[in-house]
Amino acid sequence: MATFFGRYSESELRTAKSKALDEAVDLGRTGLRRKYGFGPSSKFVAVAAGHHFDSKALSAAVAAHLMPPLELTSDNSSGGVATTRVLDGCGVPWIDTDHLKNSGHGHVEPDAEGAPSSAHDSRGYWWVSQGENYSTAIQQGSLWAPHLRIDGKPGHEDWQSIHRMLPGDVVFHYAAQQFKAISLVVAAGVEADRPPGYTGHLHGTLVLVEPCIVDMEVRLDVLKTVFPPGVGPMNRTGNPGRVYIAAIPPAVGEPLARYLSAGSLPMQQSRVQVAESKGERDTSQQLDLATTDIAGSMFRRAEQRYLREALLARYGNQCALCGRFLPMNLLIAAHIKLRSESSEADRLNFDAAAMLACSLGCDALFEQGYLTVDDGGLVRTTPTDDPELLRVLDKLGGFHCLAFSEATTENFEFHRQSHNDGTRL
Ligand SMILES: [Zn+2]
Repeated sequence: MATFFGRYSESELRTAKSKALDEAVDLGRTGLRRKYGFGPSSKFVAVAAGHHFDSKALSAAVAAHLMPPLELTSDNSSGGVATTRVLDGCGVPWIDTDHLKNSGHGHVEPDAEGAPSSAHDSRGYWWVSQGENYSTAIQQGSLWAPHLRIDGKPGHEDWQSIHRMLPGDVVFHYAAQQFKAISLVVAAGVEADRPPGYTGHLHGTLVLVEPCIVDMEVRLDVLKTVFPPGVGPMNRTGNPGRVYIAAIPPAVGEPLARYLSAGSLPMQQSRVQVAESKGERDTSQQLDLATTDIAGSMFRRAEQRYLREALLARYGNQCALCGRFLPMNLLIAAHIKLRSESSEADRLNFDAAAMLACSLGCDALFEQGYLTVDDGGLVRTTPTDDPELLRVLDKLGGFHCLAFSEATTENFEFHRQSHNDGTRL
């Protein structure tokens, strides 16, 4: 490695790596392949920035961002050795998917259940077959199971497993005959209306997840070597049965998650405490059992992402209070009622609990009560003696709030009363 990279300094390598990763995240795995002219790597896969990337394409990107660019000759770009040397050289973890094939499924009991087997590994592991819902799930960080089938009959038995998912559990997202992502459950199931992007019955259970690794392409032929018949969703012929959610025995799920994430998944346990305190699930408990600040902030982030994506899908990229069409990164999912006054299910009810407000002022002005929404849906401003603030407020007010509806009217009233100053148009 020293001889291979002798001509570049540590900082040059670091810079090239970070530029290559920015580009890779931006383009995605297939885009990166296309740009550097490679097919899928069937063997060596880089695990970086929460993605899987083909080792050849990512090495080529690193090489191209070195100054002067590193020539990847056909000799060292065709075989695996050179590309993994490039990755090693700049400190990008990689995995060899043949390792999964060769590891077989030796010690797995075919009838092992997905439930935790020991205090040592107390989290649950889940296989979720998603088909066309995959991109919605990853974008929103949501898993959704309706109560009823489309014909009104009770949901399939495996759909009920969504109620057994707990914070800290690991989810493998399966679609198009591949594992495409790994996520962590951040919030256990709450009763919720169907999120945008899903089909089927309107009422069901919503679980929030934090995608940890995306852009995976772990094909079914590899998965078959890891999941023997009878394990997870595999039927007696060794193919995935028609199930939506299947429990995976920790003996299979734990090493697989660790391997596919190159050890990057947060592995602190919280499930034991969760299970013990599960009797009544209120918010404080949820956060408590997540135990760490990291888990708490992950929860807040997952909630914000879910609401924002659901609202964007419903309303488009327009501020509900001033009506401006704005870049998505300037729009925030703002809670109408104080977050602390709402139950978890209330908070995740995007139809009633939240609206998109811009970070150019509306979000903060609403939160502080300088903007309110009256019982007819009009945006109103609060009188103020502050001349600067007055100048801002004068440009607002009078717009018909986009998020005003039967579902939100009560929460807007609650907001008005918690800031019960006189308002004006
Ligand atoms: Zn606005």
